[in-house]
Amino acid sequence: MDLLSGELEVEKHVQYILSLEEKKDSLESVAMDYLRMNGAYWGLTTLDLLGKLGTVDRDEVISWVMQCHHESGGFAGNVGHDPHILYTLSAVQVLALFDKLDVLDIDKLSDYISGLQNEDGSFSGDIWGEVDTRFSYIAICCLSLLHQLDKINTEKAVEYIVSCQNLDGGFGCTPGGESHAGQIFCCVGALAITGCLHHINKDLLGWWLCERQVKDGGLNGRPEKLPDVCYSWWVLSSLIMIDRVHWIDKEKLAGFILDCQDKENGGISDRPNDAVDVYHTYFGVAGLSHLEYPGLKAIDPAYALPVDVINKIFFGRK
Ligand SMILES: [Zn+2]
Repeated sequence: MDLLSGELEVEKHVQYILSLEEKKDSLESVAMDYLRMNGAYWGLTTLDLLGKLGTVDRDEVISWVMQCHHESGGFAGNVGHDPHILYTLSAVQVLALFDKLDVLDIDKLSDYISGLQNEDGSFSGDIWGEVDTRFSYIAICCLSLLHQLDKINTEKAVEYIVSCQNLDGGFGCTPGGESHAGQIFCCVGALAITGCLHHINKDLLGWWLCERQVKDGGLNGRPEKLPDVCYSWWVLSSLIMIDRVHWIDKEKLAGFILDCQDKENGGISDRPNDAVDVYHTYFGVAGLSHLEYPGLKAIDPAYALPVDVINKIFFGRK
């Protein structure tokens, strides 16, 4: 990898993530309060990819995660909030990072998730019923991490995802919905986990995905949109799962991500010179991991967890 475009500011990013915990009473973080479980997953996974997970107090994090557990079996975004499948996956992923899945009531949790599956195979995000292929991915990813995929009708779940496939090879959030890189990641990830990638036209989808790369090396999420660091994750992971990642210019993309760093205070933004946030910091570092940036742990493109964590869960080894 050509490092001329600058280096990854590992120490500054670690300090930036650790500082978010201290700022949790600030206005910005109060507004994002309900999202804290996702933020914890993004921040902690970034630390792990950087080899710095040991800088946080593991017991404190686990105890906070368990306080977000709801009697329905799902998890909320923060203590005292309502559960949602989005936060449930983040909670499971955080516990997996710390090798602590054994604190979960797995039966209750998998009942909560299977209870969100609808007649047509789709999933709702919570009891209010909004349907989205994102929730199909989350349900499948979560249950697979817990070895509980047999709790849902996977055949129907796959059928529903395939029904959201478009003529351009991509996927939308419901049947007929416009193709979007984030949605494609969810559908390809769910099909990868269930061993159903044969439903995808890999060349057609690979072509749509690699056309997301714009002149400055960054990737956008849809035609005519600006590039954004988070698509480094959604697009690259999808390309890796369908074995077409060599179709994009990896070095240019790495340069774009590195240009989005705040070199003074740490963190990564969506585009060069914008304000940083933990979401784009995670997707930037995870994207660089996919690009085999030196010194970063490898991340699994389907489960969005470090490969050593996945190996431990599925093969009992590091
Ligand atoms: Zn973004």
